[in-house]
Amino acid sequence: MQALKSIKGRFGKNRIIMSKDIEASTTNSSNGAKKKRPHAIALFSGGLDSALAILLLLKQDIEVTALTFMTHFGCDATSDRSSCGSNPYPMADKFGFNVKLMHLGQKFVDIVVDPKHGRGANMNVCIDCRMLMINEGARCMEMMNADFLVTGEVMGQRPMSQRKPVMALVDKETDLGGRLVRPLSAKLLPETLPEKLGLIDRNQLEGISGRSRKRQMELAKEFGLDEYPSPASGCLLTDANYSRRLRDLLKYTAEINFTDLNLLRLGRQFRIAPECKLLMGRDENDNKALMQYSNKEVYTLEARETGSPFGLMYGSPTEEHLRIAASAVARYCDQRDNSEVNITVSYRGQDRVLTVSPAEESFLKEIRL
Ligand code: SF4
Repeated sequence: MQALKSIKGRFGKNRIIMSKDIEASTTNSSNGAKKKRPHAIALFSGGLDSALAILLLLKQDIEVTALTFMTHFGCDATSDRSSCGSNPYPMADKFGFNVKLMHLGQKFVDIVVDPKHGRGANMNVCIDCRMLMINEGARCMEMMNADFLVTGEVMGQRPMSQRKPVMALVDKETDLGGRLVRPLSAKLLPETLPEKLGLIDRNQLEGISGRSRKRQMELAKEFGLDEYPSPASGCLLTDANYSRRLRDLLKYTAEINFTDLNLLRLGRQFRIAPECKLLMGRDENDNKALMQYSNKEVYTLEARETGSPFGLMYGSPTEEHLRIAASAVARYCDQRDNSEVNITVSYRGQDRVLTVSPAEESFLKEIRL
């Protein structure tokens, strides 16, 4: 925050000082001093648009440091194909720019819990997300003494965050004093400060708008960018099933933590009662992953006499809740056709066996998350 204030102080409130600052740090051909190469921080998802934004700058001999964000919601750009992003390194290696990874951690969780600018069709908070990323980029810009910030946004491309009025709102709330540049749509947007100062040549930027990627593909060809990921649909917050689980978590948990969030991705899940939830592996990998979360404070359930999902029961279940959970585990074990199944319930190092009938599928459907 301090860093951002300092940006606003230097570059937002006093444009004359800002211009002098930048000019002093760049060129002075009259006295023969060497021109400083402009330096941009670029928000880089690893996708085509943000790559092209960077390439348009590199073409103008602008130094670029790319910033790739990660969150707990699938935007692990280095490994998660369901995210807004993709692995940033192949392109960075090919075109010779640096990438810095930054995990948004609790800051991102906070906007997901309480978004100022609402949600999209599911739990996605794209406007707050853009603002957070731009603010973090601005912090980085300040720390690295860079000249401006760049995004690969294309006007009108995404329904929530890339409409013109929303982009204007993002500009207003992040207030980088005109130092936010969107090279792909630059010619359709007001001139930015680095353009005015001659750090970037506006004529070499683009005027792309809308959802067609025709111009981007032409540019990719020009730049020799032959391999790039197809446009991703968004992070896990855009997924209806994940969003249902997250909504449930927020409804029944006063303070969520990173473990709660990580668990949302795993296995089958059932809301047994407001105070307890059952998680159950769908396959061996799920079972192994869930076992890593078992500890003395969590109930575990499994049919030890046969092939069985591994179940974890969170919260403070009553005996009745435990029997319901045991019958759900019985429904998915290899003895599901038996009239009764023995399920071992463990808690605080104590094992006991509950003999239950497998739950009806119709009942499980009602409580499934
Ligand atoms: S889908 Fe929206 S909320 Fe998710 S990472 Fe992308 S912009 Fe952010």
